[in-house]
Amino acid sequence: MNADSQAFFVEMNGRLFVVDTCVGNEKEVLGFDGFTNLNLPFLDAIEKAGFDRHKVTDVICTHLHFDHVGWNTYKENGEWKPTFPNAKYHFAREEYEYWEKDGFKNHVLGPLENVSFHESIDPVVEAGLVNLVEMDADLGDGISFKPSPGHSKGHVNVHFNAGDETFIIAGDMCHHPCQVAQTDWAAIIDYDQKESSATRRKILGELSGSDTLVTCTHFCSPSFGHIKGNETEGFVFKTVDKTK
Ligand SMILES: [Zn+2]
Repeated sequence: MNADSQAFFVEMNGRLFVVDTCVGNEKEVLGFDGFTNLNLPFLDAIEKAGFDRHKVTDVICTHLHFDHVGWNTYKENGEWKPTFPNAKYHFAREEYEYWEKDGFKNHVLGPLENVSFHESIDPVVEAGLVNLVEMDADLGDGISFKPSPGHSKGHVNVHFNAGDETFIIAGDMCHHPCQVAQTDWAAIIDYDQKESSATRRKILGELSGSDTLVTCTHFCSPSFGHIKGNETEGFVFKTVDKTK
């Protein structure tokens, strides 16, 4: 299996954010052999990129599926430890409570998510690092959540307003840019496929024609772009490569 899953590091207003934390190493991902027991040089890569994991101030997970929470923790001497021990981990309360109350029993990913919580969520809760917030939370300094439910119950987009530039990390609102053009194409594991399609139509409509950059966690690089077009003729995702 080959799939892109990104963790985004953002430095803004004296804070260092990590948005979504991929699958992680040594995790047990029930039913997904290609993601189980990974051993990838993620920690080396962030160090080489010039980031100190101890200086991360905020970790945000757009939702709590296993492929967005993995590097919340790493295994040391057989125990799961917070990868970013000095950060606050911000999760939408709606999302967290859904899994705890219903999701493990009723969602198709329930058994997998139960293990994922044990490995990647519970240790940061027990370390007192988790901040459960509303789906439209203001995290200060121009960073806020906006609700984008459908793929999961409490899915949120993360908005960064840097003054002269605004960008959005939209998690799994779309898994692939083809869903920008075809907003009704929904993922089989969506919590509510009608709602995920409605969310795409609404948010893409709001973004179309604006200067706001947007990406989703599984888009391949260059993964940021602008939204053009309209619902009738179809939305278009125009990538912007800032490395050039
Ligand atoms: Zn995902």
